[in-house]
Amino acid sequence: MTASFRETLHPGWGQTFEVGDILFELDTGHQHLLIFENPLFGRVMALDGAVQTTSRDEFVYHETLTHVPMFSHPDPKRVLIIGGGDGGILREVVKHPGLEQVTQVEIDAAVIDLCKQYFPAHSDGAFDHPKAHIVIGDGIEFVNTTDERFDIILSDSTDPMGPGEVLFTERFYQGVARCLNPGGIFAAQNGVPFLQLEEARNAHQRLGQLFADASFFMAAVPTYVGGAMALAWASDDPAIREQLSLDAVSQRYRATAMQTRYYNPAIHMAAFALPQYLQDACDQAS
Ligand code: SAM
Repeated sequence: MTASFRETLHPGWGQTFEVGDILFELDTGHQHLLIFENPLFGRVMALDGAVQTTSRDEFVYHETLTHVPMFSHPDPKRVLIIGGGDGGILREVVKHPGLEQVTQVEIDAAVIDLCKQYFPAHSDGAFDHPKAHIVIGDGIEFVNTTDERFDIILSDSTDPMGPGEVLFTERFYQGVARCLNPGGIFAAQNGVPFLQLEEARNAHQRLGQLFADASFFMAAVPTYVGGAMALAWASDDPAIREQLSLDAVSQRYRATAMQTRYYNPAIHMAAFALPQYLQDACDQAS
């Protein structure tokens, strides 16, 4: 009988993975961490029963969450990553030549250590990049206490349960607003709205009270099941998103000579096209 992993994120429905080898399993003190091999997606990591990343499809999510904000900003120099323990976001951030410093605040050192070992291509050495500063701590405390200021803040958190729950609260978003530079952009993992519409509505309502512009952009990540994933967007100037042109994004992208596998300027612009049920939920939450 082949062993299997059934995701428990969504009550009453979920994806099941055939489990080849279980490579690591641990209660880290923050969350239950499981890493296993699957014949179709390669290595898979789950935290508290929810799929976090796989070696086969991680690039879709990491490229979108990183490059849509960073190529929307004219000159992002200082970046903050909250969570992101697998290192995929950090790998994409350090590809930007204008970057001066990226600070990553991850609550669970075990995730970083184990992902360096079992998912080395995710971080691809980025944890040792000279511009990277890694902090082990709670993201909500960091944004509410740091003296640092950032052009881009990316929240690559687990779902709003366990340690990740606080990263969807008004106090976290207040902290983000506090340490974002003028013209800065906040973006965050915000679930699959077809199944987690309340999560999107809540985030939109809370961000809308703190920022002049709050919206979402989308990415279809195969193992974040239930339809396209919503990534929250917030900034102090609606023009950053509303007046962004394909030409500007294309010029910035070409200037980096960056290699990507999912992101490109056309995907960037299209990502802001929202399904009507999500747009309606945002309108109701405003
Ligand atoms: N891409 C995944 C997704 O969309 O679900 C998330 C990947 S990453 C593994 C999520 C990270 O958030 C984990 O490493 C977890 O330890 C971290 N995390 C959860 N709550 C946190 C908090 N309050 N402060 C900092 N990091 C946190």
